[in-house]
Amino acid sequence: MSSQLNKVVVVGAGVAGAMAAQTLRSEGYDGDLTLVGAERHAPYHRPPLCKKLLTGEVHRAGIDMAPQNEFSARVLRGASAVGIDMASRTIAVRDGDQPRTLDFDGLVIASGADVRRWPTGPVPDGVMALRTVDDCLVIRAKLGRRARVVVIGGGFIGTEVAASLTSIGHRVTLISRTRALLEAALGVEMGNLWTDLHRRHGVDVRVGVDVDGFVGKSHVKALRLSDKSKVKADLVLIGLGVEPATDWLAGSGIRIDNGVVCDATGAAEGATGVVAAGDVARWWHPLYQEHLRIEHWEHASRQGVTAARNLLVGPDGAQQYDAVPYFWSDQFDVKLQLVGVPTGYDTVTVIEGDVGTGEFVAAYGKQGRTVAVLGTVPGRVHELRGLLADGAAFPPRRQKQFV
Ligand SMILES: Cc1cc2nc3c(=O)[nH]c(=O)nc-3n(C[C@H](O)[C@H](O)[C@H](O)COP(=O)(O)OP(=O)(O)OC[C@H]3O[C@@H](n4cnc5c(N)ncnc54)[C@H](O)[C@@H]3O)c2cc1C
Repeated sequence: MSSQLNKVVVVGAGVAGAMAAQTLRSEGYDGDLTLVGAERHAPYHRPPLCKKLLTGEVHRAGIDMAPQNEFSARVLRGASAVGIDMASRTIAVRDGDQPRTLDFDGLVIASGADVRRWPTGPVPDGVMALRTVDDCLVIRAKLGRRARVVVIGGGFIGTEVAASLTSIGHRVTLISRTRALLEAALGVEMGNLWTDLHRRHGVDVRVGVDVDGFVGKSHVKALRLSDKSKVKADLVLIGLGVEPATDWLAGSGIRIDNGVVCDATGAAEGATGVVAAGDVARWWHPLYQEHLRIEHWEHASRQGVTAARNLLVGPDGAQQYDAVPYFWSDQFDVKLQLVGVPTGYDTVTVIEGDVGTGEFVAAYGKQGRTVAVLGTVPGRVHELRGLLADGAAFPPRRQKQFV
């Protein structure tokens, strides 16, 4: 470890920030450590917010990060970094009503992402997004019995919310402007399978339509759709994706372009002694040969660890992060698992099992290389992760039949 750092600040107390802070301590850093978190909660796991916390299968305390994630640091909760001055190496923080200034010699940017708001401005009451535990608890409180819920957005959050609420008896309409659910993430071929899954479980899926507007002055009553139909709603949940939380870095000289632009070690471009990790960061990925900003839990966690180590050892000893990204999503009785990055794929084919049985593995190819593997057989994609790391040709050779 380089012993030059004495005052490290971590901005963002999500999984990336928490793992970074914990790693700084476990790697022997014994100087000042401050973790600045905008939420009033101790670090918690976000994935259950649209799964078991939303359905009530786990309690609020059940999503807190485990005690082994505790570390000795000054933790500011309900405190937001609002500006940064790289010349004096200080961060302006709004801590409740109190303005504060924090000095730093090392900085971890882990401020995550904020939900995209409704594009045409204010929405009536009863139209909400889901990103934080507070959002989830408010949504739960607003759901009566057999509520009519409209979910806008067929991405991972929208589809998970639709599946969770349907499974506990609510009547859900899911609206997506794409041809298939999950199309942006998985492509239309695989997306069609999840569209069918939702329909089989009773979700009223409307694909290829847009929302023209909301009906209801004080509280939402219905939505008008682009196909001239109208859908009644007691509650509307919006899942339009997220934007990296970088406003507080404006004017700092740190390069922002769809996130904090970093090299393959997590060092932020345009600054020294600054690393970034998680949803806010766009690291150079040596395997995919491009800057990628990835919104996956495991990726955020591992990047937090790597960024902290690299901050401590400094640029000369820093190691590249080239792990193949992993994502999972639980919808009804299906666990979707994805390794790699399918964006821009030119071919997708089932390499194991059979989509008809619901148990299969599919590979995505791009210019003759296997770039991603999607599976519904728990754990199987992990066995194929190494193939992607080795840049295997498409289709990958290792195959086995389940049926
Ligand atoms: C509902 C939901 C379900 C998900 N399910 C899955 C899943 O099944 N599988 C999967 O792989 N991934 C899932 N994800 C994605 C995964 O949770 C994220 O990729 C991960 O949480 C990113 O961690 P992070 O620490 O980078 O950012 P975040 O979790 O966003 O944490 C950043 C923290 O920084 C705080 N912050 C922001 N700005 C400031 C500031 N200026 N000052 C101080 N603090 C600030 C924020 O309030 C937040 O608490 C899900 C995400 C959501 C929202």
